Amino acid sequence: MDPASPIGNSLPSQLAHLQQLAALQPPDYATRRQWLAGLASIVTEHQQDWIDAVQADFGCRSAVETRLAELFPALEGIRLAQRKLAGWMRPQRRGVSFWFWPATARVLPQPLGVAGIIVPWNYPVFLALGPLTSALAAGNRAMVKMSELSPHSGALLQRLCRQYLGDDVVQVVNGDVAVAQAFAALPFDHLLFTGSTRVGRSVMQAAAANLTPVTLELGGKSPALIAPGFDMRRVVGSLVAGKMLNAGQTCVAPDYVLVHQDDREALLAELRRQAALAYPDPAANPDYTAIINQAHFDRLQRWRDEAAQLGARVEVLAAGSSEAALNAARKLPLTLIENAPAHSAVMREEIFGPLLPIISYDKLGNALAYINAHDRPLALYLYDDKRRRIGKVLQGTIAGGVSVNDTLMHVVQDQLPFGGVGPSGMGHYHGYEGFATFSKMKPVFYQSRFAGAVLTQPPHGKLVQWLLN
Ligand code: NAD
Repeated sequence: MDPASPIGNSLPSQLAHLQQLAALQPPDYATRRQWLAGLASIVTEHQQDWIDAVQADFGCRSAVETRLAELFPALEGIRLAQRKLAGWMRPQRRGVSFWFWPATARVLPQPLGVAGIIVPWNYPVFLALGPLTSALAAGNRAMVKMSELSPHSGALLQRLCRQYLGDDVVQVVNGDVAVAQAFAALPFDHLLFTGSTRVGRSVMQAAAANLTPVTLELGGKSPALIAPGFDMRRVVGSLVAGKMLNAGQTCVAPDYVLVHQDDREALLAELRRQAALAYPDPAANPDYTAIINQAHFDRLQRWRDEAAQLGARVEVLAAGSSEAALNAARKLPLTLIENAPAHSAVMREEIFGPLLPIISYDKLGNALAYINAHDRPLALYLYDDKRRRIGKVLQGTIAGGVSVNDTLMHVVQDQLPFGGVGPSGMGHYHGYEGFATFSKMKPVFYQSRFAGAVLTQPPHGKLVQWLLN
């Protein structure tokens, strides 16, 4: 393959590259270790390049956030795969039922072939390198489609993959939605899509034409549920961190809060205090990330204003910034919204920005009923210290993942699977589950030389008659 030729964007060109990758031999353990080492170098040797690229994509993206929420977890995932790879690849011994003794059985993890990975713009590094870690550890080649809204990150990933892995291992495709559609139509052996629920439906349809299995990492409205009487000082630090990280442009950000009506005032006071402490003067603050583009900025303002027009109480926590400065910087401060009607956009749609609807409840059961009356969320955040009640909430709700007394933290535990449920996604990756997702778990039966295959081979004797009766 000519390393100088950038991958073309048309369907025939993408298909030709897929076919070239598919024709290559599956890698052994040593080769996979080399690939993972290449991925690690892409992070460790280019930290500043990544910070600069993501900054260029967002206009303003906190360097700390890029390190903390992208480079650090990406590297942790790679390191875990490096440590665990030999164990993951080892054939797993399985039991054989008494009737087939002394035969044995094993499950052999095997690469699938070529994986497709579609990446959104909000965490372009972590959401490209995370799935790549799983796919390469499992011994697949991969093609990656980056988002048209993060072109600097896309160009950097293309250059670094070529440099550290080579075009015969990973190929990166950059381009607009037409390119993405052509990409989703390729006959991959597995396709992992991270993005919106709406686009996830089209991707699954395109994959169905090839019978390509999909992992869909989608979005939705993730609730934060605060149990009655819980200490607000323990809630709000992590709530503000989870909502304001990347200015709310996080798939697992707490989308809205359910608080007991008696605790509402305490919550509001603490939110006002801690938001100002966390990001004073957000317009000028380099640690507070901008909204990715004007269209999303306008959308969020429209939704905020619509809620106000429909009678909601809207409180912008500008923390010292003027509206003009915020607009110029394309920054939106944390904005509290109370009593928005059910048909308003902020109550119906995934917000994906720093608008925070707050819903007061009278009984915890009603709060749970509210959650269960809506789409199954990607994440649920529960603030409570009562173990039995925590157990009840965990059993009584269905969500992609849960952090108790914190936000986001379950996502960065490499030993936990990550994935949504229902409209928030299907399948898992991260850690072992990521390896398994990109592997064919091949069952193998080893007949014993001492067995006479008595059960299956005709003529069927008395043992079979007795067994079946
Ligand atoms: P998006 O769905 O608009 O785009 C995601 C990717 O799909 C981009 O690379 C885009 O080029 C591509 N794409 C667009 N149209 C396509 C089509 N018709 N066929 C194939 N590919 C297409 O999402 P976004 O705006 O980039 O990201 C925000 C969404 O992603 C939010 O809903 C968020 O919750 C979700 N998200 C989920 C996770 C997760 O891990 N579950 C992580 C981050 C973001």
